[in-house]
Amino acid sequence: MELGLKDRVAIVAAASQGLGRAAAAGLAAEGTKVVIFARHKKDVQAAAREISESTKSEVIPVIADVTKTDDIERVVETTVGRFGRVDILVNNAGGPPVAQFMELSDEQWLDGVALTLMSVVRLTREVIPYMRRQHWGRIITITSLAAKQPISDLVVSSTLRPGILGFAKVLATELAKDNILVNNVAPGFFLTKRQEELLRSRSASQNMTIEQYVVEQTRNIPIGRFGTPEELANVIVFLASEKASYVTGATVSVDGGVIRGIL
Ligand code: NAP
Repeated sequence: MELGLKDRVAIVAAASQGLGRAAAAGLAAEGTKVVIFARHKKDVQAAAREISESTKSEVIPVIADVTKTDDIERVVETTVGRFGRVDILVNNAGGPPVAQFMELSDEQWLDGVALTLMSVVRLTREVIPYMRRQHWGRIITITSLAAKQPISDLVVSSTLRPGILGFAKVLATELAKDNILVNNVAPGFFLTKRQEELLRSRSASQNMTIEQYVVEQTRNIPIGRFGTPEELANVIVFLASEKASYVTGATVSVDGGVIRGIL
């Protein structure tokens, strides 16, 4: 299938490793020019170099924090300065804190709002004027299965992620006339650094080894295994493509069947 992504321009947030990096690599493999950013210079530069070498696409690293307004503006300015446009935005960030409700301070809640919610609001707001001018755009947010099914040790995530679904629906309705499509992906369990942290903390809280916990967790996944970041990236790449031209306001679960709900 020809996806029509060659020479498109994408920004992928929080993309020095894990799901963001896989999304950037998937787009670059289709010939999209990609700007990636994260906070740690060495990691984001190495990721850009490696993706660029393996895909032969241009990948620009920017050192930026998705919770900082100035950094977000700089990422978009760098992209437009370099390529003159921005066609695709993949919203992503680190994971909010792992804790039960009564353990969380106001500060942790507010940090979670900045990381999980306001990062999406701000980045999306920055790119819309360019996408409107081009009359073409794709905005895709990496959320979580917690957007559809709450997880008790991820109460910040479980509270904020459903809000992203409402946000996407509002924008999908408002921006369709500008040919800007707004969708989400809701990943289940993917083996990344973030998932390793979750496995460590959850296995310890249940007095299990990580290996025992993974066996237990895998029982709840109909496909019978964790996903690879590339499997999430494949769905993101499709949603970013010309071929997704009639999909907007959707939240696609990519979870090996974990979510049993019908809607
Ligand atoms: P990861 O492997 O820990 O990678 C996180 C990436 O985000 C890194 O590149 C990190 O680089 C960057 N980052 C973190 N905080 C940032 C900030 N403030 N500004 C800019 N970049 C930042 O995580 P992941 O597993 O790919 O998860 C990505 C997102 O998907 C998270 O929100 C997570 O909760 C969600 N999710 C993941 C899974 C899963 O199974 N992995 C499932 C559901 C949802 P720096 O540290 O250098 O900034």
